[in-house]
Amino acid sequence: MRAVRYDVLFVDDDTQLLGAMARVFADAPFLGQAHFAATPDEALRVLARHPIGVIVADQRMPEMSGIDLLKQVRSAYPDVVRLLATGAVNTEELIEAINHGQVYHFITKPWRNDELRLIVRRALEHYEVTQELRRRSRELSAAYAQLEGAHREQVRLYEMVICDDKTGVKNYHFFDVRLGEEFERARRHDHPLSLLMIDIDDFKLLNDSHGHVVGDIVLREVAQHLADGRRGIDVVARYGGEEFALILPETPLAGASIIAERVRERIAQARFAGMELSLTISVGVATYPRPELESRQDLVEAADQALYRAKRSGKNRLVQYGV
Ligand code: GH3
Ligand code: MG
Ligand code: MG
Repeated sequence: MRAVRYDVLFVDDDTQLLGAMARVFADAPFLGQAHFAATPDEALRVLARHPIGVIVADQRMPEMSGIDLLKQVRSAYPDVVRLLATGAVNTEELIEAINHGQVYHFITKPWRNDELRLIVRRALEHYEVTQELRRRSRELSAAYAQLEGAHREQVRLYEMVICDDKTGVKNYHFFDVRLGEEFERARRHDHPLSLLMIDIDDFKLLNDSHGHVVGDIVLREVAQHLADGRRGIDVVARYGGEEFALILPETPLAGASIIAERVRERIAQARFAGMELSLTISVGVATYPRPELESRQDLVEAADQALYRAKRSGKNRLVQYGV
């Protein structure tokens, strides 16, 4: 804590008094260097050049009062501890200066050497504590900023790993892992779990007539429609190509069918790629529990079967598995 020693600056128009101060602090081990200024201007020059921790200013100086000098010091060097040395005490002025934080402490002239040393020493200690606190708070801010940066980077990497580039929704791998977890949870607690398999109707035609670039834009917009308004526990994923999957935990067949119908309707009414492009989707809905659905793969196959039936029976519709 005492590794750095800060300097002290004495300001007095009476150079004899400055000499006396110099003798009082000649061998003081607690300060770095003692500086002496006979005018406020000189004092400000010293402050600009040296690591001053404490300033002791005489109140009565021809150019400027000590309180006014300390006001200036306060605005330019807020941490410097400001002491006022004064003979004739104008109590009101002094109290006001202390109350306004311009003066930390005052020293009455004539001073007692041991008292003066003690006051200056305390003031220096006060300054050291402030500086140490500032240093630590800077270190903390820097460490915190670093942590935040690392965290942002981790989040970015994680999103890269779990999301599909083209559409922004979750990728197949994330879907597969999460469906496994949700299936286990549903089985353990005997809760319902629904899965929607969604395939864009005649997407090949759209690609053929408008090109792959437009096709990609449409894929992204379809994904956004599917993701909009989903609960936090739902998962929207690109299953592959122009096929999406929606995991709906805690959702029975009836609820899942309502959601599927809403999604189908929404897509049918939407216009895509900034053109008047419209399209439809087919949806297969399957819900656990059912005796023959023993794994997440079974659930996927069931939803796929339902989707296939939706395609076979004319597209732009939803079909429930097992109904
Ligand atoms: P259906 O109604 O039976 O689903 O017909 P479909 O044309 O949608 O299905 P099909 O499986 O015959 O064709 C899928 C098309 O989706 C063909 C393929 O080029 C296109 N496709 C798959 N992935 C992408 C992609 O990432 N971007 C674009 N633009 N097209 C894709
Ligand atoms: Mg298709
Ligand atoms: Mg397909």
